[in-house]
Amino acid sequence: MFFYIIEAEHISSPGQGTSMLIIQKYGGTSVANAERIMHVAHRIAKEYNNGNKIVVVLSAQGSLTDRLLQKAHEINPNASKRELDMLLTTGEQQSVALMAMAIHTLGLPAVSLNAVQIGLESTNQYGNARIKHIQTTRIKKELDQGNIVLVAGFQGINSLGDLTTLGRGASDTTAVALAAVLDADLCEICTDVDGVYTADPRVVPTAKKLKYISYDEMLEMACQVLANRAAEIAKHYNVKLIIRSSMTEEPGTEIGEVSKVEGSYVSGLAIDRDVAQVSVMGVKRLGAAYNIFSLLAKEEISVDIILQMPNTTVTDISFTVSKQDMDAALAILETNRESIGFNTVTHNSSLAKLSIVGAGMLTSPGVASTMFEALHENGIDIMLITTSEIKITVLIEDRHTEKAKLAVHDKFAHLM
Ligand code: ASP
Ligand code: MG
Repeated sequence: MFFYIIEAEHISSPGQGTSMLIIQKYGGTSVANAERIMHVAHRIAKEYNNGNKIVVVLSAQGSLTDRLLQKAHEINPNASKRELDMLLTTGEQQSVALMAMAIHTLGLPAVSLNAVQIGLESTNQYGNARIKHIQTTRIKKELDQGNIVLVAGFQGINSLGDLTTLGRGASDTTAVALAAVLDADLCEICTDVDGVYTADPRVVPTAKKLKYISYDEMLEMACQVLANRAAEIAKHYNVKLIIRSSMTEEPGTEIGEVSKVEGSYVSGLAIDRDVAQVSVMGVKRLGAAYNIFSLLAKEEISVDIILQMPNTTVTDISFTVSKQDMDAALAILETNRESIGFNTVTHNSSLAKLSIVGAGMLTSPGVASTMFEALHENGIDIMLITTSEIKITVLIEDRHTEKAKLAVHDKFAHLM
């Protein structure tokens, strides 16, 4: 196999009598209709009947969150964020109530709870609040009484007592945060894919499912299967995390500490198409980087890759931002042309970032050159390169993305 992933310890299902506290999260697709809700109810029942304590976090059904946003937009395109959160939080609340009803038909005790009831306190920022604190008393009480606890994901209450949402996809975050505060034995993210892959299997047919990946690699891969914030919390609190399919019994991918992946040097590929490059030519050298990036920071524009090419008195500076920030970045440069002092600005938003990610990369010489070789052989130009301990990233033209992905993935496969 191409990636040297050391076999993850087998995750044993608990035998009779060894009770575990398990947090499970099911995404929108997994609870999209009555049939799927019943299917998930059976899965939960199975864990419960094995003698485990179960807390289940649910997302809104299917595309309900999007449809609620659409509804709001039809009435008021500038709806207040507070009211949007009031609306969106109903989605998850429907799911947990329906799931409780489903589990009741199986003759098992279950109770649905929202953020107010469990005391999930968040920051005030509607639409993108952060979890501050979770009271555990109510959940523990319900578990002690033998209930399966169903928690509405994606929501919190702020200091005003208002409902907030925690950012799109944040049911994952709710689940991992609950696993952390409840000190759960396991947090299973049950979703519509069966694990984390070395690359998107729809694009790269030879992509492989990973048995194990470290928190850091997971964060770098920025894969759609897990909200980044959830991966950060999991890392910080060392939550034992598994990503698996809600439809099959396949073991999925385990996410944990880095030590277990020693010996692996590339775990996968990541693509980011939300990237635009801005190049500022002939910038007055003294304080150039500070002058430019402090202005961008003031407007909360985050900059990713930076490249500086100094000359005697002037310097060229290239940087990347997300596509939606490009126009604002250009405007800031233009407005401050005098104070920054530069010649010309160019920009390009038809770009993509391709990264290879791996915990053991730093100690494996030749990884970078192998990647560059794959690109060169396919006539793909590299515009910027940046590396970290566990990642090598190149900026390429967006139109080459698919070809580049295949070429790089294949290159590492052949090394085996
Ligand atoms: N329902 C929310 C969303 O669509 C939260 C989630 O799915 O995790 O973003
Ligand atoms: Mg989701």
